[in-house]
Amino acid sequence: MLLNEEERALRDSVRSFLEKKVAPVVAGHERARTFPWELLPQLYEFGYVRGGVPEALGGDELPMMMQAILMEEAGRCWGSLRTTVNVQGMVARTLAATANEEQRARFLDPLLAGRRFGWFGLTEPEAGSDAGSLRTTARAKGDGYVINGSKLYITNALGSDFGILFARVIGAEGTDHGVTALLVEKDESDFGVSDIPHMPLRSTTSCELSFQDTYVPAENVLGALGGGLGLGMKAINAGRLNMAMGAVGLSQACLEASITFCRQREQFGKALAGFQLVQQMVVEIATITETSRLLGYHAARAIDAGEPGRYECSMAKLYCGESAGRAATLAIQLHGGAGLMEESPVERYFRDAREATIPEGTSQMQILHLGKALLGQSALR
Ligand SMILES: Cc1cc2nc3c(=O)[nH]c(=O)nc-3n(C[C@H](O)[C@H](O)[C@H](O)COP(=O)(O)OP(=O)(O)OC[C@H]3O[C@@H](n4cnc5c(N)ncnc54)[C@H](O)[C@@H]3O)c2cc1C
Repeated sequence: MLLNEEERALRDSVRSFLEKKVAPVVAGHERARTFPWELLPQLYEFGYVRGGVPEALGGDELPMMMQAILMEEAGRCWGSLRTTVNVQGMVARTLAATANEEQRARFLDPLLAGRRFGWFGLTEPEAGSDAGSLRTTARAKGDGYVINGSKLYITNALGSDFGILFARVIGAEGTDHGVTALLVEKDESDFGVSDIPHMPLRSTTSCELSFQDTYVPAENVLGALGGGLGLGMKAINAGRLNMAMGAVGLSQACLEASITFCRQREQFGKALAGFQLVQQMVVEIATITETSRLLGYHAARAIDAGEPGRYECSMAKLYCGESAGRAATLAIQLHGGAGLMEESPVERYFRDAREATIPEGTSQMQILHLGKALLGQSALR
C-alpha cells in the first residue's frame, strides 16, 4: 500500500478542499493573471508552508511524506498555486533555520499566519544554473549595506512585501565576505520590481528586481556573513522534491482529463476510448505518472528515515519533471484540437509542465549531480 491511513486522510481532505474552493476559480484567475492570496491561510491549515517549519517556531513539522502529498495535490489542482506555496515554504524554512528572534517576529510569524508573503531572490541575468557566480553586491555603509545588481525570474516578487536576497557582501575595508542572505522589505528599501510576461504559471509573477544603491539595515542580515549560498542551496534541495511532487500531480491531472475526454468524445461511430492507439497514449500517461509517484514517495520516505535523500530527490525532480512534459504532450494529442483551446484544462497543463524541468536545478543539473554520485567525477565544468 502506497499510503497509510493518516496519509490517505490528508490527501482526501486537501483534495476535497482544493476541488471545492480552488478549482472553480482557477480559469478566471489564469485569464486575469491574478492570484487569490486570501485563500492561502486556509491552505496553511492543512500544513502547506507550515509543514516544513519546526513546531517550536510555530510550524506543523510534518514528515516529508505528508509534505509530498500536499504538493502532489497542489500540482494536480493548479501549477500557480503549487509554485506559490513552494516559494513561501522555501522562505519559511530559510527563516526558521537562521532568523533571530526579532527577525522571526517581523517575518516568520506573520508569514506562517498568512499575513506576509515573501520572495526568494537567487537567480541573476548572468547567474542561473551557476548560482554561485552571482554578482549583486551589498557594500557596508554606515549602519547597513548598499545593494547594487539585479535578480531575474523571481516568483511573486510582485505580490509579496518582503524577500530573501542573496548578495555578495563587501566589508567597509573592501573585504569580500561571500554570498550572504539579506531580508529586503518593500516598505523599507527602494528597489525596482517588474513582471516579465511568461508562458507558464500565469497566476504568478516572474520578476526582474533592480537594486541601485538600495539601502538595507544591518539588522536585516539573515544568518552568518558568507553563509548565504549554503542557505540558498539547502532551501532549493528541499524545494526540489516539492517540484517533483507538483509534477506528479500535474501528470495525474493530465491522466484524469484524458480519460474523461476519451470516454465522451466519439469519432468513427464510437468513443475514442475504444481505439487501440488512444489506449496506448492513455496507458503511457498512467505508467509514467505511477513511476513518477513512486520515485517521489521513495525520496520522501528516504528523508523521513533520516537519510540525506539528495540523490533520490534529484532523480525524482529529473524524472517527474520530464514525465510531466510528456504526459501533457500526450494529453493534448488525445484531446485533438480541443486540447489547444484555452477553455481546455490540458492547454494550461501543457504550459505549466514546461516549467517543471527548469527552476530548482534544470534537468541537466540533476543529471550532472546524479552522474557525479554514480561515477565519482563532476562533469559540471
Ligand atoms: C517560472 C520560473 C520561476 C523561477 N523562480 C525563481 C525564484 O523564485 N527565485 C530564483 O532565484 N530563481 C527562480 N527561477 C530561476 C531558475 O532557478 C533558473 O531559471 C534556473 O536555475 C536555470 O537558470 P537559467 O534560466 O539562467 O538557465 P541557464 O543556467 O542559462 O541554462 C540554460 C541551459 O543550459 C543548460 N546548462 C547550463 N549549464 C550547464 C552545464 N554545466 N552542463 C550542461 N548543461 C548546462 C541548462 O540545463 C539549460 O538547459 C525561476 C525560473 C522560472 C522559469
